[in-house]
Amino acid sequence: MPELPEVESVRRGVDEWTAGTTIAGAEVADPRILGTTSQRRIDPSAVSGFVSAVTGAHILRAERRGKFMWLSLGEGTDLSTADPVTSPVPRPELGILVHLGMSGQLRIHSPGEEIHRHTRAILHLDSDRELRFVDQRIFGHIGVQPLVHGYGRLVPASAVHIAADPLEPAFDPEAVVGELANKRTAIKTALLDQTLVSGIGNIYADEALFRAGVHPLAVPARTRKSRLVAVLESATKVMSDALAVGGTSFDALYVNVNGESGYFDRALLVYGRGGQECVRCGTEIVKITVGGRGTHYCPVCQKPPRYRLR
Ligand SMILES: [Zn+2]
Repeated sequence: MPELPEVESVRRGVDEWTAGTTIAGAEVADPRILGTTSQRRIDPSAVSGFVSAVTGAHILRAERRGKFMWLSLGEGTDLSTADPVTSPVPRPELGILVHLGMSGQLRIHSPGEEIHRHTRAILHLDSDRELRFVDQRIFGHIGVQPLVHGYGRLVPASAVHIAADPLEPAFDPEAVVGELANKRTAIKTALLDQTLVSGIGNIYADEALFRAGVHPLAVPARTRKSRLVAVLESATKVMSDALAVGGTSFDALYVNVNGESGYFDRALLVYGRGGQECVRCGTEIVKITVGGRGTHYCPVCQKPPRYRLR
């Protein structure tokens, strides 16, 4: 599943092509894309509701928090950071939330270009471009939502509980370490908790723990705070490094808006390397399951804590 660097790579492309445009029309080829993974039975009126809600809307910009991405809709220029007292222009109230799920892609095309058979929805832009949502397995989602206040900014209503991610100004590392230090689950599980810190998924959690030299089963409440700080800093660094090369293309389905893959899979030190030699010490990388997720670590570089592990 795309994590922060992959979603941010997509967001940058989407923003470049859509910010400042107006949606001239929309099509939903498969109504299931308007649902969620737990609710795919969609009332037929949802399609016309979506199309009428977005048609004529002006896209201010593409935004992201963690793995959530949305298009902010509103009038005129982007004044989201302007002083509300001196600036009478209303802030955006609606957003088009796009969740890529496991296999979702947002692609920019010219009208008339061949339509991929897994295209589920299309936004026609007044710039003579189309934003197409292609999703082979339909774990993704697109829908219009009100924007509400969450962790210091406006976010789609369904993302209100999602914590700030390490690459946004609202991120408060001290507060996150303070919360993390209360957790009695495995640290790997805590890092995947999107209400604590968002954007980190299975790949970057393993990479961050390896780089910080912390065992995935270590219990945060029993780990020195300096070690927790190191883990968060490693997560931030590894996700920034991945973003710089377009993210990690773990399979052929993750691509940016132009259909290009990312290159960070070549820089992964531990994820997906079970049974191979550790790049630092040569010991065999171990793969275990933590909280249902495949987890990779080096038993020497990431020493097990002295207390009993669960
Ligand atoms: Zn090692």
